[in-house]
Amino acid sequence: MPWKDLKARLLSIGTVQMAGEPAERYIARSAAGPGAGGSGAVFFAIGNYRVKLAVSPESSIEVFHHGSGTADLFFKGQRFSGHLLEPGFHCPDQAYITVTGSCIFSCRYCSVPRIGGKRKTIEEIKGMVESVRDRIHAISITSGVLTSIEEEEAFVLEVVENLTSYNLPIGVSIYPTAGTPDRLKNIGVAEVKFNIEAATPDLFSQMCPGLDYGLIWQVLDRSVQVFGKNRVFSNVIFGLGETDAELETCIKKLTSMGVIPVLRPLNPVAGLTGMRRPFAKRLIKIFTIHTRALAESGLDPRLAMTMCTNCTGCDLVPGRDV
Ligand code: SF4
Repeated sequence: MPWKDLKARLLSIGTVQMAGEPAERYIARSAAGPGAGGSGAVFFAIGNYRVKLAVSPESSIEVFHHGSGTADLFFKGQRFSGHLLEPGFHCPDQAYITVTGSCIFSCRYCSVPRIGGKRKTIEEIKGMVESVRDRIHAISITSGVLTSIEEEEAFVLEVVENLTSYNLPIGVSIYPTAGTPDRLKNIGVAEVKFNIEAATPDLFSQMCPGLDYGLIWQVLDRSVQVFGKNRVFSNVIFGLGETDAELETCIKKLTSMGVIPVLRPLNPVAGLTGMRRPFAKRLIKIFTIHTRALAESGLDPRLAMTMCTNCTGCDLVPGRDV
């Protein structure tokens, strides 16, 4: 089975049960992204391909850990041999840090407001990066909103200024204001991700009350002017009720602007627990649309240095998953 077909089927289930040798050092416990605040997740890899799956004792997929990261994945009677990846913070190869683990907004798909975490200090963040410095190639920063969008950005700018001495590419994904791309560029950020989250404005206003869909599009446009093509990303969650045609329109709008969409199959957590993950067949169909749209706009996800498009754990990424 081609990797992308296997990954689509695994992502449509999204969970795995662990067996064999203890695998604690391979369990990622995240404060952001799919599975945030849950019982952890593992990155199962075959060669350079990887998928992130949440650990659940009820899963129909099993990963048997033989020790030292060597593992077999059992799915529908088939065995796939590979290995477990050790996360840096949140994901392998990067220190991907949620600097403020709480949020005044209540996006329905997001667990961060429910986790109720705290803001890390600059010293804590530097200590985290230091602790994984020998096995990361990038630093990625994301955040909830502790008191206001402006105050959060000011804190993130301070964080970044304290991390540039590591000489690693830094990616930032926060809720922006109009001037955010320029300010991030001026302090040396390499890549940005501003998430439009939903394929249509109606779905966005249902999912993210109080946030401004139009502003995010404006900020993405400015970001491409400032950071250039292949350096600007935007998450679009699918499985929220959008049609394929609506999603395709959204994908093409992003790619024609020079933005690389991060097409994230819905992980039904937080306020969306009654919904279901998109089927594997839909993941493959959207992957085909995504691949074509990127090619038509001369965009290449393989160039991503930071954040989700570099990680590839949670999505099918054209050029990386084949
Ligand atoms: S794809 Fe993004 S959200 Fe998923 S594990 Fe990787 S960095 Fe985290």
